[in-house]
Amino acid sequence: MRSMNKDAENKRVSIIVPFLNEQENLPLLYDRCTKVFQSLEEDFELVFIDDGSTDKSLDWVLDKAETDPSVKYIQLSRNFGHQRAITAGMNLCTGDAAIIIDADLQDPPETIADMISKWKEGYDVVHAVRSERKGESGLKKLLAHVFYRIMSKITEVQMTVDAGDFRLLDRKALNALNSMPEQHRYMRGLASWIGFNQTTVEYVRDARHAGVTKYPLIKSIGLALNAITSFSGTPLRFIFYLGGLLCSLSVVIGIYLFIAWNFIQAAPPQHAGTTYLTLAIFFVSGLQMFCMGILGQYLRRVFDEIKERPLYLVRQTNLEGASS
Ligand code: UDP
Ligand code: MG
Repeated sequence: MRSMNKDAENKRVSIIVPFLNEQENLPLLYDRCTKVFQSLEEDFELVFIDDGSTDKSLDWVLDKAETDPSVKYIQLSRNFGHQRAITAGMNLCTGDAAIIIDADLQDPPETIADMISKWKEGYDVVHAVRSERKGESGLKKLLAHVFYRIMSKITEVQMTVDAGDFRLLDRKALNALNSMPEQHRYMRGLASWIGFNQTTVEYVRDARHAGVTKYPLIKSIGLALNAITSFSGTPLRFIFYLGGLLCSLSVVIGIYLFIAWNFIQAAPPQHAGTTYLTLAIFFVSGLQMFCMGILGQYLRRVFDEIKERPLYLVRQTNLEGASS
């Protein structure tokens, strides 16, 4: 049941903006976000997380922070990747709710108003769902479409289809996510996993305002693989069934051939044996490699988790509560 727990007075919303070399986009993002909040009653802070930029993005943020107290920054010590940059923002932000938004203006800041009104209705997690994607390659769109649908089939948690990282999280949800120590953070999955009152708002995903994507197809495939191994045991079950099927089939075929060749007809053709044997070797060794690859994915995760490394390191910040 939802409760009207979001009394707007003195409430603060943190806008979490991870960025990697987005110098042309940050000023416009700042303008559009501040404009949105002019017509809202909530206070806001803009938390910029520099994920190892090498352009002038950070200089712009540091300058802005001097004149505008609502501008906060976290400079990570190097590039830790989008998901961990978001994690840093979620750990250190001070709002009663946080909204994660990309720096390249693909997520229109104007949607924030809709998300906040859902929050005020009592929802704890508001996923922004893309009704349309502009300016992305046909292949990426197709793969994304297929991926989100497969994911929702093979995972135990109900995941929102076509939602990226653009979402609002109430403090309750933020605290829950912050309490999770796992290294491979597929934030979209985790945000669904925590439960609470969840809802969606629709938006049209714009083309990038300036600059180039930092998620080329190969990195997106990496994210997809990470998502599957984080949230689904289906690939493991798949090899279990596949292995079982293969064993049973080879026993059945073996028995069939034995009977056929010894009791029903005369000896098989001369070269049949070597041909079948070669094919079988190729087939089985390929299959073994494939299965080991799947196991390897999980093993890598165990390996990464037992190291218990911090998820990110902060070089400097003007937010309190940071360890450095
Ligand atoms: N980003 C980041 N660290 C990275 C890669 C990307 O902080 O290692 C930021 C990037 O600046 C942007 C957001 O994450 O604000 C989404 O990245 P991008 O727009 O390149 O991905 P796409 O929208 O093309 O999937
Ligand atoms: Mg983008």
